[in-house]
Amino acid sequence: SIAEVDWVGLLDVAKSLKSNPEGPNLRFDGKVAVVTGAGAGLGRAYAHLFAKYGASVVVNDLGTSHSGTGTGHNAADVVVNELRALGAKAVANYDSVEDGDKVIETAIKAFGRVDIVINNAGILRDKSFVRATDADWDLVQRVHLRGTYKILKAAWPHFLKQKYGRVVNTTSAVGLYGNFGQANYSSAKAGIIALSNTLALEGRKSNIIVNTIAPNAGTRMTATVMPPEMVEALKPDYIAPPVAYLCHESNTSHTGGVYEVGSGWVAKVRQQRSGGYGFPVNGKLTPEQVASKWSEITNFDDGRATYPTTTGESFMAVQGNFENVAKES
Ligand code: NAD
Repeated sequence: SIAEVDWVGLLDVAKSLKSNPEGPNLRFDGKVAVVTGAGAGLGRAYAHLFAKYGASVVVNDLGTSHSGTGTGHNAADVVVNELRALGAKAVANYDSVEDGDKVIETAIKAFGRVDIVINNAGILRDKSFVRATDADWDLVQRVHLRGTYKILKAAWPHFLKQKYGRVVNTTSAVGLYGNFGQANYSSAKAGIIALSNTLALEGRKSNIIVNTIAPNAGTRMTATVMPPEMVEALKPDYIAPPVAYLCHESNTSHTGGVYEVGSGWVAKVRQQRSGGYGFPVNGKLTPEQVASKWSEITNFDDGRATYPTTTGESFMAVQGNFENVAKES
C-alpha cells in the first residue's frame, strides 16, 4: 500500500490534548500565520483554528470566483471580522497570491514577522485537454504553482533569518493520480509537491518545515459535484487540525511529507519503486530484451520493492547495475 497512517503524529496530538483538559496546549501564541484563500472553505477553517490557538492571522483572499473571475474585499473582510469577534488578532490582504510579496508584506507591517504559511488559495478551470485553452492552463498554473512559489519566495528570507518557518502547501489527490479534465490543475498540484520536497531539504537546517496536504473537503469548490451529506461529512474543520499539528513548533522532524486528509482521516503517502531488473548490457540493450523482462521490471510483489526518499537513494539502484555490466563484459 502506498498510504500509511501517521499514528505517531496523531497520538502526539491526542495525548497533548488529553493531558490538558483546561484547553489546548499545542498553542501558537506569538506566532504569525499567513493563510492564502482564507476567505472561504478550507482557508477559513485554518484561519479560525490558528486564531483560536493564539496565532495572529493574515487572512489573504482575492475574493474571486471558483474559476478565478472577479475580485472583491468581502471574503477576507468577513473572516477577519469573525476572528476579531473571537478576540484574535487578524488583518486582511486582498492581493492575488501571484503578488506573494505584497501578502507577506502585510504580515510584516501588521505583526512584524511571519512564522507560518499555508498556501491554500486555488481555482479550477476543468476542461478536457483537447478543449482547454492556453488561458485555462496559464491561470490555473499561475494561481496554484506560481502563487505558492511567490508567497514562499517572499517568506523564505524571513524564515532563514529567524531560523524558523512552518509551511503547509496544498496539492490534491488529482496531483498524485491525475483526473480526466484536469490537466492544468493536476500538473500544477504535482508541481507543488516537487516544490515542497525541495524546499523541505533546503529549509531543514534552518528549522523550516515544509509539508503538503491533499485535502478532501466539502467547500464551494466541491459543493457543485458532491451530494449534501458528503459535503457535511467532509467538513473543512477536519482538515485544519492535521495542518495545525504539522505547523506547530513541536514538529521539528516531520518535513517533506505528503498527507491525504478528509472526514477526520489522516494518512501519509510515499512512493514505492519495484526492485527492477538490471540488464547485463555489454554495451548494448535492445527493446526486445526490455520486453522479455517487463514482468520483473513492474513487479512490486517479489519482496524487492523499496520506498526511496532521496534522489541519492534513487540513484543507488542505477549505480548498482554498474557492476552487473562489468561482470558480464
Ligand atoms: P474554495 O473555492 O472554497 O476557496 C478558495 C479561496 O481561494 C476562495 O476564497 C478564493 O477567493 C481564493 N482565491 C482564489 N484565487 C486566489 C488568488 N489568486 N489569490 C488569493 N486568493 C485566491 O476552495 P477550497 O475547496 O477551500 O480549496 C482550497 C484549496 O484546497 C485549493 O488549493 C484547492 O485546490 C485545494 N483542494 C481542495 C479540495 C476539496 O475537496 N475542497 C480537494 C483537493 C484540493
